[in-house]
This record gives sequence, C-alpha cells and structure tokens, in this order.
Amino acid sequence: MNHILIAEDNPRISSFLETGLQAHGFISSTVSTAQAAIQMALGGEFDLLILDLGLPDQDGLTVLTALRGQGETLPIIVLTARDGIDDTVAGLEGGADDYITKPFRFEELVARVRVQLRNRQTPRVKEDTTLRVGDISLDLLTRQAWVGDRMVDLSTREFLLAEVFLRHPMQVLTREQLLDRIWGYDYDPGTNIVNVYVGHLRRKFGGDRIQTVRGVGYRLFAQA
Ligand code: CA
Repeated sequence: MNHILIAEDNPRISSFLETGLQAHGFISSTVSTAQAAIQMALGGEFDLLILDLGLPDQDGLTVLTALRGQGETLPIIVLTARDGIDDTVAGLEGGADDYITKPFRFEELVARVRVQLRNRQTPRVKEDTTLRVGDISLDLLTRQAWVGDRMVDLSTREFLLAEVFLRHPMQVLTREQLLDRIWGYDYDPGTNIVNVYVGHLRRKFGGDRIQTVRGVGYRLFAQA
C-alpha cells in the first residue's frame, strides 16, 4: 500500500486530502510545516509527497530544494494557488514532478498521484487496475467500462462517478460526498449536478444498479 505524505497547513484542505486518499486505498500522514515535511520525507517511509507551497514557517520551495539537494528522489506534487504561475514554474524548476492548482477536484489529484507512482513502480508491484462489482467492471488505466460483455461509453465525469460507486459497493454515498469527490470542495452545494450524472450512469448501466436512498443519497447494488 502506498504511503503519502501531505505537507499542508490549511486543515480543511489536508482533511479533504486525507479522507479522499484513504477512500482510494492510500495511507497518508499530514504535516503542517516545512521543517516537519523535510524531516519526514527524508525518513524514507513515504512513496510520494503532496507539497503546499505556502507553508507557515518556510516556503514550500525551500522544502523542494532541501530534499532534492540531499538527493531525495521521492515523487513530489506541489499545490499552487490559482494565480501562482511563477510559483508553479519555480516548483517545477526546483524539482517537483507535477503540480496541481487550487482549488482542484480530488479525482484529478488522484490521477496525478497514480501517474507518479506508476512511473516509479518497480516491476514486482503490478497493480490490478480493474475494478469489478457484480457485472460492472472499470479499467482504470484504459478508462473503459463494461456491463457484462457490453462496453459502455462514459464521459470523464461519468467514469469518475462510476469509480467512486465501485469502490464503495452497497454503501450509501451522500450527494455531498459525491460532489466533493468529483466536482471538488468549492462546488456550490445547492447544485443538482450529482442527480443529473447519477441519471446518466443509471441509463448507461441499465437495470436498477444505482438505487436512490431517499433523503440520503445513492447506493450501488451489485448484480451478478
Ligand atoms: Ca498553505
């Protein structure tokens, strides 16, 4: 299991990251200062670092420089502000492997994390990239979906939504959880976009595979 270090001082963002990473099968630890980030990252027990550039004690760029200066090759994804083009460039020049701009959708971050981990993966670890629940299967690498032998054409968002359902079969997921995971924590909570996309998935998967739990949310029902 991959262990991810989060260096982020905003508790709202770090808990959003922790919850999401956990839901995707990662283990994570959070630090909120540059000093702690350097120390922990050099400890060698992490597979990837998600680094906020705006940390309270020192700039995130200092963390990058310190780690790369000491020969640390851990993949690093930096979190930058929307208008922080200069920071982004500096981050990449400072040795970051990728960057993501706040506010971001969780699924986008996970996709970036997976790419970084896959790039570093030694051949002995071959991740099974297909999720299966009942007769539905999703190939996370090729982004293809099937119901039985029938291939189903899903848009990017539909695929992400399907992935969340397949990772939590028979579990009730609230509209808020789905909104958070797929559209990001800054999305207007009053939107009905989740209902709309669940409707798309229902139609494409067919049958009664995604059930409404009245007043709460939705649940994927596994059909053989
Ligand atoms: Ca910050």
